[in-house]
Amino acid sequence: MSSQPLSPSNFKDLFDSVEAFLFDCDGVIWKGDELIQGVPKTLQMLRSKGKKLVFVTNNSWKSRSQYAQKFQSLGISVSQDEIFSSSFAAAMYLKAKDFPSQNKVYVIGGEGILEELQLAGITAFGGPHSLVQEDANKTIDLKQNCFVEHDKSVGAVVVGIDPNINYYKLQYGTLCIRENPGCLFIATNRDAVGHMTALQEWPGAGCMVAAICGSTQKEPVVVGKPSTFMMEFLLKKFNVSCSKMCMVGDRLDTDILFGQNAGCKTLLVLSGVTTQSALQDPSNNIQPDYYTNTISDMVDLSKL
Ligand code: PLP
Ligand code: CA
Repeated sequence: MSSQPLSPSNFKDLFDSVEAFLFDCDGVIWKGDELIQGVPKTLQMLRSKGKKLVFVTNNSWKSRSQYAQKFQSLGISVSQDEIFSSSFAAAMYLKAKDFPSQNKVYVIGGEGILEELQLAGITAFGGPHSLVQEDANKTIDLKQNCFVEHDKSVGAVVVGIDPNINYYKLQYGTLCIRENPGCLFIATNRDAVGHMTALQEWPGAGCMVAAICGSTQKEPVVVGKPSTFMMEFLLKKFNVSCSKMCMVGDRLDTDILFGQNAGCKTLLVLSGVTTQSALQDPSNNIQPDYYTNTISDMVDLSKL
């Protein structure tokens, strides 16, 4: 069925039937570091009407506490408990799998992943500042052009966005996955691109994940949207049934699919990466229930 534009009558039905709104962040709340217009008053209106709010981002660069700070710096008060980042999802996935305490995690990605793993009591190393060229020169046996050794206790490699990605990090992750028996390969997300700045999209974690898929010939477990893992975790925490949730996002193949996979209502906003013509293109087979320009349209519709 094709999507309907949000209107006074369907908004009332949606609003009355939904207890919790799940908001994607980039393209819905902000673009890069810039707040999208009308967001604070929209969130305020929803809170004043007793709706639960949850913020779900695939960007693994930051931890939940770093995202809480970002919200605060943009003038929005959001508690850490309302935030679900793919960095947190990676840590929760390993905990759910009873990751052995004697094993370590090698991270190709940001400090956010390292912080969430540490908070979950999991030993991790790697991250954005390790194995940069100078380290690599010390670690690599240049004559034989191979690593002197890699840590055999690495039981999982977590891959997320890493602007300092390089050949040595790829080699270290590849060695762990190929040579350590049972080593897990976890992707925080597979977004093709993301907003590093408001004006331009840059290669996303999907690019780094694809490199490791290429070298290992293995497929990762994806813990971010559209995977059901994050949704199952979230449902347990908030104790709301899927039919009483609405997922609001700007990307069809992550946000809208994430909501649809779980049986939530879905609302696409056109303030991010998806245009109305892309939504209505006959080749697009992901149709949200509703679409509208920005989340602030909800404020006007709630007054009618
Ligand atoms: N990954 C990266 C690196 C990004 O920069 C972004 C958006 O800026 C995303 C993922 C997608 O984030 P979200 O799920 O909040 O749209
Ligand atoms: Ca988004």
